[in-house]
Amino acid sequence: MKTTLFCLILLLMINTSFSQSFSLPNLPYAYGDYAPQIDVLTMEIHHKKHHQAYVNNLNTAVKGTKMEGQSLLDLMFYVSFRSDAVRNNAGGHYNHTMFWEIMAPPASQGLISDELSAAINRDFGSMDSLKKAISAAAIARFGSGWAWLIVSPEKKLMVTSTPNQDNPIMDVTKDRGIPIIAIDVWEHAYYLNYQNKRMDYLSAAWSLIDWGVVSKKYASAINDSLLLEIEKDNWPAMKDFHRTMAQTFHPSESGDLIPLRNRSGELLAKAILLKESRPPKSLDSKLILEGLQNLENKCEEVNELVEKEAKDAVLIKKIKEAHDLFHIVQGLCHD
Ligand code: MN
Repeated sequence: MKTTLFCLILLLMINTSFSQSFSLPNLPYAYGDYAPQIDVLTMEIHHKKHHQAYVNNLNTAVKGTKMEGQSLLDLMFYVSFRSDAVRNNAGGHYNHTMFWEIMAPPASQGLISDELSAAINRDFGSMDSLKKAISAAAIARFGSGWAWLIVSPEKKLMVTSTPNQDNPIMDVTKDRGIPIIAIDVWEHAYYLNYQNKRMDYLSAAWSLIDWGVVSKKYASAINDSLLLEIEKDNWPAMKDFHRTMAQTFHPSESGDLIPLRNRSGELLAKAILLKESRPPKSLDSKLILEGLQNLENKCEEVNELVEKEAKDAVLIKKIKEAHDLFHIVQGLCHD
């Protein structure tokens, strides 16, 4: 009896840890410790209300879907395939988490590493020019968004900005890379104290950046395999084909052939565009080009069957072959 009960409790515990959801991280310092640069009430509302809301909404958005249990990184990396709720709230959770990590009261800040300092001088000329570039990006961001310092796939430092809660990891962003500084330029980040004076807030936020933490992020970013993943994923024609394939193949799996019958010509056109596009540098291999030619041929067969008004079963078999082939080609990009 005791053993059964023990097993039951153990099972419950394992089950709970599997259905882990996202949670609000603690701030490294007390709400009041960031003053006078950022006042206590702004910090508290920003963390306890705004960030908590992104966490709660993200958990709701993935609950009961295929995305439940996926990492935040996976949710963001392929965000063009996800709902707006996932895009906004996964971004909101990631961006704020990073913002809290890189901020510290001046007396608690670490020093910049020689490596990061050299990289800033190499890519911006000086620390002052970097500050100007980040402020300019933050000021130019119309409406709500973020300013970023990122490490690009070429391992260069780069300043960029994104709207809303998007970020440079997402496949909807033009300048992609691994962020090492995040500056929140939503009005909720500064309005109580600075009202419309975004520039004054930016100067204050700049003095809260913990260069010790940013240096650690830089050191890990330049060795992160995610940079290569981003470079390989930077292939718009592949994304475009993938989307049309998903929107036609997946309904066919559950017996709905209408999207495929309506869009087989579009699928073929996108396969041709994909074959003629330039793959990311790190992928330009003979094997991939052969795969893309085969994929085009397969999509042509699918389209011919549709034109001949082939039976559902025949069409399902053929689109499945095309889909399998697509994943083989895609697999060559991700191994
Ligand atoms: Mn915010």
